[in-house]
Amino acid sequence: MPELPEVETVVRGLSRLIIGKSIKSVSCDNAKSLQASRSTIDSFVIGSSIVAVRRRGKGIIVELSSGYAMLGHLKMTGQMVYVAADARFGAGHPNDSLVEDLPNSTTRITIDLDDASRLYFNDVRKFGWIKVMPIHELETDSFLSKLGPEALSLDFGVDDFTKRMLRYPNRNIKALILDQSILAGVGNIYADESIWMTSVHPTRVVSSLSKTELGELYTNMRSVMNISIDLGGSTNKNYVNAEGKRGNYLNFANVYARVGQPCKRCMTAIVKIRVAGRGTHICPICQVLV
Ligand SMILES: [Zn+2]
Repeated sequence: MPELPEVETVVRGLSRLIIGKSIKSVSCDNAKSLQASRSTIDSFVIGSSIVAVRRRGKGIIVELSSGYAMLGHLKMTGQMVYVAADARFGAGHPNDSLVEDLPNSTTRITIDLDDASRLYFNDVRKFGWIKVMPIHELETDSFLSKLGPEALSLDFGVDDFTKRMLRYPNRNIKALILDQSILAGVGNIYADESIWMTSVHPTRVVSSLSKTELGELYTNMRSVMNISIDLGGSTNKNYVNAEGKRGNYLNFANVYARVGQPCKRCMTAIVKIRVAGRGTHICPICQVLV
């Protein structure tokens, strides 16, 4: 599943490539993928130019000159691929559609731009979606309105994080940082990595963590996600992203997907347990349950 660093990679790539271009046509082969009426698309999308591309949580927001926005979510297997005569960029779910001729059988939405370039929304499993709405209605949208503050926002400081966590003293720390309504953007990989870096057990309840531990968790969580964004996400296949770099965060992972391999601090074998309904990777020595 694309996590925040992949979504941020999509947003940064598209920002560089599509801002200022206008939309000539939009086609879709699956009604659930494009949740907008034909008349809305004809009136507010076609003929509009793209003025901004930004991210909120794992949502991708493309603002248009008409005062409307396209809001997209990649869900399990979504990806965005931009194709022009002299450029190609794709990010999101890592499969061969990132590099193959498009459209193909995974293409759900095709957007033609005025310079003959094209944007494809591919989605094997069809859980992803793009909605269209006035920009001023974004904040009341059913997905966006439930999101907590951005984990990576410059405005979101360690005191904000600590206060927010302490509102839920009896919840376990992994479940809490994964809860998008409390904190937007932390997915399973980065939860496991940052909790290992902090040397705490993921099932510890918030009230059992010291202020120092919460502060370390905040710092580690942000640093691991920022490193991953710099590397272009966590895809373990060799696809090249917008800056020509290969997504390879998993090469640097300390615990995620490293079951049986030695902990990088104490050499004990990493184990996988289940926390908050998710597969969870820990070092049984560094991360003791106290
Ligand atoms: Zn260890």
